Order: sequence, then structure tokens, then C-alpha cells
Amino acid sequence: MPDAVAFSVRAAWQQELAQAIRDPLQLGQLLDLPETWVQQHAGARELFPMMVTRHFVNLMTRGDCDDPLLRQVMPSADEYLERDGFVVDPLQEQNNEHPGILHKYKSRVLVILRGGCAINCRYCFRRHFPYAEHHFGSEQRRQLLDLVRQDTAINEVILSGGDPLLATDTQLERLLSELESVPQLRRVRIHSRLPVVLPSRLTQQLAKRLEQSRLQSILVLHANHPNEVATELAQGLELWARHGITLLNQSVLLRGVNDDVEVLSDLSEKLFAAKVLPYYLHQLDAVKGASHFAVTDAVALTIAEGLRTALPGFLVPRLVREIAGEPSKTPLELSRC
Ligand code: SF4
Repeated sequence: MPDAVAFSVRAAWQQELAQAIRDPLQLGQLLDLPETWVQQHAGARELFPMMVTRHFVNLMTRGDCDDPLLRQVMPSADEYLERDGFVVDPLQEQNNEHPGILHKYKSRVLVILRGGCAINCRYCFRRHFPYAEHHFGSEQRRQLLDLVRQDTAINEVILSGGDPLLATDTQLERLLSELESVPQLRRVRIHSRLPVVLPSRLTQQLAKRLEQSRLQSILVLHANHPNEVATELAQGLELWARHGITLLNQSVLLRGVNDDVEVLSDLSEKLFAAKVLPYYLHQLDAVKGASHFAVTDAVALTIAEGLRTALPGFLVPRLVREIAGEPSKTPLELSRC
């Protein structure tokens, strides 16, 4: 009974998602954090709602206000800091021609497939993004297909968000079938943090469908710290790898989370053990409310040098910055003023 099995797997991740924690006080209680400390920071959820899955919380250390996973999701009073250059729309994405569709790079088109996420990362460059205005509905799907049919330079569709894996397997399979009908398309790429916070999302049903596609499929995971690579995630990734899906990871360099050679080396090693190759290490996008996560370029370059010494070349992610309007990511060495 494959359909019944598939339904129960889908229901598992959706049910887990429904149990996500949205209240900093509840999070503080679960982790035995000092109440005064939680009270001091909880108000910043008015700037960006808090949300975190129980799986991700279970990877945190109880009683540790500096836990690197907690730091990524707990609202912070530092989010009220105003700093020059930190703006609402750092990559100038909000006034694009086709809402829900970003054609930033010549051969690739990016789709904001889902507005929500299973976790709200405090450093997110889209924390102020008006997802409601960029809903990807049937009209946007028609526009996407028109765009890729007319522009034969496009050979890859990137599913992004929010988090595209919030779409159900059935919805993703339907979109995949439509994309397969466009002759020049070669690849579909899924950018997602969802497996990190809900490993059960790596369903066998979706892996099988991607394997059967004539399009090559790539999953770009978003993990920032080795503690995020839990056993359940590694098992799900190995399953997807067995179905022929290319697995890459991108991280954001974050002060107080992973700005350390040993931490990032450990992350690369754990990812590779789960069949994932490190891809990019991003300098933080200068989004308003996240300046306390910023690492200077000088420190970032020193960390990159340390990684080159500590790891074989294939485990060293490329240190890059995204610059609005540029036709590709910019290696940090080239982006310094
Ligand atoms: S999962 Fe990605 S898009 Fe969602 S809040 Fe985190 S960084 Fe932003």
C-alpha cells in the first residue's frame, strides 16, 4: 500500500511542524533558561516572529543561553540596534517584475515557492520580505512556465522561499512534471533548511520522484553548525543520496554561532559523512535587525584561510558575498572595499 505509507510519512512531518514553538517563554522553560534573561530578549519577537521545531530544540544544550542553535532562533534585544548599511531589503528583491519569481542570474530562475519556513532564523535576509505579495499560485506558475519557455538561456529552476519543502510532495511532483516539459531545462535545485529542523521531511516518495525525473536534481541544504547534523538528518540525507540526488550545503557565517575554524571544520566533516559537500559560506547579508551576527571581512578571511589549512580542498566551502545586482556570487577576496 504505497499511497498509505506515503500519506503517513507526509503526515508525520506536517504534524511535527504543527508542534513548533512560537513563544520565547515556552522555549525558555523547555531549556531551563534564566527567566530574567528570557524576559530581557523576548520582546524582540515583535520585530520578527519566533518559530522553532521541537527537533531543533532537542539539539540544544539545556541551561546554555549561548548555545549556537538557540542563538539562531531566540529573539534578541540586539535586534533593535541600528547600524549603517543594515536595511530592510539588502538584496533589492522586493520590487521585482514578476512577484514570486526572481530572475537574477542569466541561466537560472528562482521561485519563491512558499512564503513560510519551519524555523525563523533571526539573521534571515528575507526577514522583512513581504511574502504575502509574492504568493506563488497558479498565475505565478503560468508566468514561470512562460518565462522559461521564452528564454532559452534558462536551464535551471531554483526552488526557494521561505522554504520550498513546505510544499507537499504532490504539489512538488506536479511542478516537476510541468518543468520536465520544457526542453532546454536541465536541472531543478531545491534550497531548503527544512530537513535540518524536520528531518522527516526527506521522504522517500519525493526522493523517488526526483530520481525518475529527466531533470538532474540538487538539494542545497542550509546547516550552519555541526550540532545541526543529527543522526535523523544524516539518515535522511543518505537515503536521498542513494536516489541519486546531489547534496550540497550552504552556511551563513554568524558571530557567536560558527565564526570558528574548528566548528566549521567539524561541520564540513559531519556533512561529508552524510554525503553532503560544502558549497558556500556566505558573509551575512546586511539585513536590519541582524547586525549583531556580522563578522568582519578580515576575520572571515582569516577563518577561510584556517579552513584551507585544516581540511582537504573538497571540504572547504567558498566564502562569498551576495551583492545586489551582481550577475553571480562574489568571492570575498574580490568584494572588499
Ligand atoms: S529557513 Fe531560510 S528563509 Fe527561512 S528564516 Fe531561516 S534563513 Fe530565512
